[in-house]
Amino acid sequence: MSYAHNSRRSLWILIGLVVGAVAGVIAQVWFGGPALDATVANVIKPIGSVFLRIIFMVVVPLIISAIVLGVVEMGDPRRLGRVGLRAVAMTLLLSGLSVVLGLTLVNVFAPGKRIPHEVRDKLIASYTVQAGDKIKAAESAKPLSQTLLDLIPTNPLEESVNAFNPDKANGGLIAVMIFSLFLGVAMTMLTPGTDAPLRSLLEAIFRVCLQIIDFAMILAPVCVACLSFSLMATTGWELLHSLLAYFLVVVGGMALHQFGVYAVVLKVLGRKSPRAFYREAREAMLTAFGTSSSNATLPVSMRVAEEELKLPPKISRFVLTVGASANQNGTALYEGVTVLFLAQVFGVELTLAQQLVVALMCILAGVGTAGVPGGSLPLVVGVLMTIHVPPQSIAIILGIDRFLDMCRTVLNVTGDLVIATVVSRGAAEDDAI
Ligand code: ASP
Repeated sequence: MSYAHNSRRSLWILIGLVVGAVAGVIAQVWFGGPALDATVANVIKPIGSVFLRIIFMVVVPLIISAIVLGVVEMGDPRRLGRVGLRAVAMTLLLSGLSVVLGLTLVNVFAPGKRIPHEVRDKLIASYTVQAGDKIKAAESAKPLSQTLLDLIPTNPLEESVNAFNPDKANGGLIAVMIFSLFLGVAMTMLTPGTDAPLRSLLEAIFRVCLQIIDFAMILAPVCVACLSFSLMATTGWELLHSLLAYFLVVVGGMALHQFGVYAVVLKVLGRKSPRAFYREAREAMLTAFGTSSSNATLPVSMRVAEEELKLPPKISRFVLTVGASANQNGTALYEGVTVLFLAQVFGVELTLAQQLVVALMCILAGVGTAGVPGGSLPLVVGVLMTIHVPPQSIAIILGIDRFLDMCRTVLNVTGDLVIATVVSRGAAEDDAI
């Protein structure tokens, strides 16, 4: 696909996003009420979901083929180890920086101390039902040992089938990735040639999945317009007013990370011009914003990495696929800010040591969050329970969560592309030695 074609496509997605959002605000102001809510729920949102569903359709085969091929193409397990270690180190570095940034801002601006008690109680009352669902999800959490064990799937097919169903999956997509890793490493150890048919099959599956994503991307401008319309037409604007300070801290922190931290890391560790990077990665960033899902954006990120950023596929496929689930800087920042904000709202004072525990939990929660819309909410509830803030308090932020989800997903996806850029540079230097 040519550069001009892709940049035209990202322009159309952007136009869809803006047109949908503006129309949604106008619709709410002029026609807001049950009729609009019903039209959004029964017509507009379903149209937007067509695009998401086509993409989700190929996520599992794409993840399996991308990881196996990534590992096989890297060939030498030692090389895989080096790439893996660098990716893990970068994930910890970027997530750590994002949480520290978020916690600093929330301590300095203390948005939770600006919420009057009546507003707090009203918000909790109006989102109680949705909050109950998130609390149930967090309460059914397994002990840590079982969670870790479940990452090694006893039945990879079952995990693949239930990958998007948290009630039935044990390890979910990460377990599917671990299986793919085993498959790939085992293939590199066979007598050369033995694995050729499997390799060609996986290569074909990979290409076919990308082709299907291309079909979905044709629908992207219209579907993204419908998704942003639905969001804007159903957002409670008065709500945003009472949560403005919290909203600004989250979005401000994310903007600093997206355009400050990433730019420095790209320049210093990736030797890449940040300006060129943002230009080349914009299709992936827009898709992330439109879908609120790192997993749904993965195929677009892979294409962007290969065709625009010109990263070696053997590195980028592997790093991006694992990163879509495991590296979520926007989510980590958001979780840190939200937990501390809610603690402030309820007057729970946290010591520095407790804040460090929150930071650590948020970094880990970023790794454990599913790359789907709203994936982080059950983990926020989990962290709230640990620091003795009432878990129902999540209701306070639910009304504006979708927009923040769109923003944090942009960071999550950009972070994966930043890591892929840095790790590719390291691998190129190794090869040159
Ligand atoms: N929607 C986010 C993602 O897919 C996850 C979350 O923070 O809820 O990356």
